[in-house]
Amino acid sequence: MISYRIDATDVHAHLFRVTLTVPRPAAEQHLSLPVWIPGSYLVREFARHLSNLEATQGEREVGLQQLDKATWLARCSGSAALRVSYLVYAFDTSVRAAFLDPRRGFFNGTGVCLRVHGREAEAHTLALERLPSGWEVATAMPAAGRRHAYRAAGYDALVDHPFELGRFWRGRFDAGGVAHEFVVAGALPNFDGARLLADVQRICTTEVAFWHGPGANPSDLPFDHYVFMLNAVEDGHGGLEHRASTALIAARRDLPRAGVADCSDGYVKVLGLISHEYFHAWNVKRLRPREFARLDYTRENYTELLWFFEGFTSYYDDLLLRRAGLIDEARYLRLVATTVSGVLAVPGRKVQSLAQASFDAWVKYYRSDENTPNATVSYYTLGSLVALALDLGLRSRSRGQASLDQVMRNLWAASGGGPIGEEDIVAAIKAVAGPRRGGALADELIGWVHGTGDLPLAELLPRAGVRWQAQPATLAQRWGLRVSESALTGVKVSAVLRGGAAERAGLAAGDELLAVEGWRVRRLEDAVALLPAKGPAQLLVSRDQRVLALALAPPSAAQRDDAPGTVHLSADPRAGSAARALRQAWLQA
Ligand SMILES: [Zn+2]
Repeated sequence: MISYRIDATDVHAHLFRVTLTVPRPAAEQHLSLPVWIPGSYLVREFARHLSNLEATQGEREVGLQQLDKATWLARCSGSAALRVSYLVYAFDTSVRAAFLDPRRGFFNGTGVCLRVHGREAEAHTLALERLPSGWEVATAMPAAGRRHAYRAAGYDALVDHPFELGRFWRGRFDAGGVAHEFVVAGALPNFDGARLLADVQRICTTEVAFWHGPGANPSDLPFDHYVFMLNAVEDGHGGLEHRASTALIAARRDLPRAGVADCSDGYVKVLGLISHEYFHAWNVKRLRPREFARLDYTRENYTELLWFFEGFTSYYDDLLLRRAGLIDEARYLRLVATTVSGVLAVPGRKVQSLAQASFDAWVKYYRSDENTPNATVSYYTLGSLVALALDLGLRSRSRGQASLDQVMRNLWAASGGGPIGEEDIVAAIKAVAGPRRGGALADELIGWVHGTGDLPLAELLPRAGVRWQAQPATLAQRWGLRVSESALTGVKVSAVLRGGAAERAGLAAGDELLAVEGWRVRRLEDAVALLPAKGPAQLLVSRDQRVLALALAPPSAAQRDDAPGTVHLSADPRAGSAARALRQAWLQA
């Protein structure tokens, strides 16, 4: 049995002290730390935080040779257990790494537990030692009997159970007959935990019923208990999915407060995040790309399918909030409209397909810069709109007989909740909608995913009784600019969009827009009142200490028509009965 002892006493230095014991090591025993954490597709080089590596067998010091950035070779002799000790610097507040200070500890095994090559399939144990007094532990890793001792079936399981340590709020509820726990670290004193628990229970009950039907048996669920661990911070938002838990980060002000009954946009965002990560327990942790059937911790793991695993999960995260009755129809349609407007504002959708965006996540999505909107498309947002188009296509063409819900359940049943490829998604669509109708829809899907054309949403949404109204473009949209601005900082260009008026005028990311037509501007929209009736607008911008004068020619009528504005979606009161019935079946609470 491979065992790790993790000591969390050195809170001021933010150091976990780790001791790894390997019984009967190989004569040449390789050890390595993963370079990435599953679910977050970036090489993060966790080994950069590892130091003071030492190894012994009994009293004998064991020679250690570093073979590459994350791999070591221990030269062992005889069968005496190999003991390896090291320090891990832990001061990363994200959900992807490790953190330790006097208030809180957190870690994922990927950043803390060296992998013992050749022994990954054996049981692994993990014991927490010398926790600061009063600290508690939350994790979905099964307890091993002793206090603060845990046991995982193998290395994959070991690193798929993050740990939250400290003094935190904790609550429990039941969903689908299975125990769920929710812990919140760092909440404000007036945090309304009871409300959060009640709302999350509705999400979980809805999602369990989505996958397994309303009368689900606890043994149908892919886990026998589940833990949400949320770190409340001043600013931040994100999550990472695991097989029986999720690590979340959210802004304190977005959590519900005692005595405040309304549902802020921030709280809806947190509920959407919770819904998203919980849905992943099925879609990406069990149903997963065939390329992830066996994970390689030493390098990038490529797949073209993130549009399905992240995009379709993004479609269902908010939709299931609606079906759980946590948001109303109008609010749901506003959320969809925000996604549609966001995708339309990205010229990169004409450059990169969803399949390419998935494959390139490692160097593009996770390494965004000022050129990102011009060169890439998000497999989250556009992927969720593909799911919407597919769902509405299935529902409208089958007169309500087929839906994406059925496709998801068909995939789950057909794969046994295991690895799948694109052809399995196509087969599930055909199985649900019939070979002819399903085949046509699957062909459309393949075109959306591998091509760069626009989705037919303006045509599909009205079939569900949803009115699509284009709103006038803002000045930033008409000029093809993204800015950050405030009265204090003025107008800073964060991105110049491909082919737009700002690009032709010579504006660049990082420029500060000082003046328009000789007038100081502190918000871009203020410039609307200053623009000349015809001809180019005279701009003053500051770049690298110099002040430049630029002339910005107004967009032509054709360019203005092309400029993506914002889309407003609402239930159409004049929709026919068939469209209304389709909308009701789609958005039913
Ligand atoms: Zn996700």
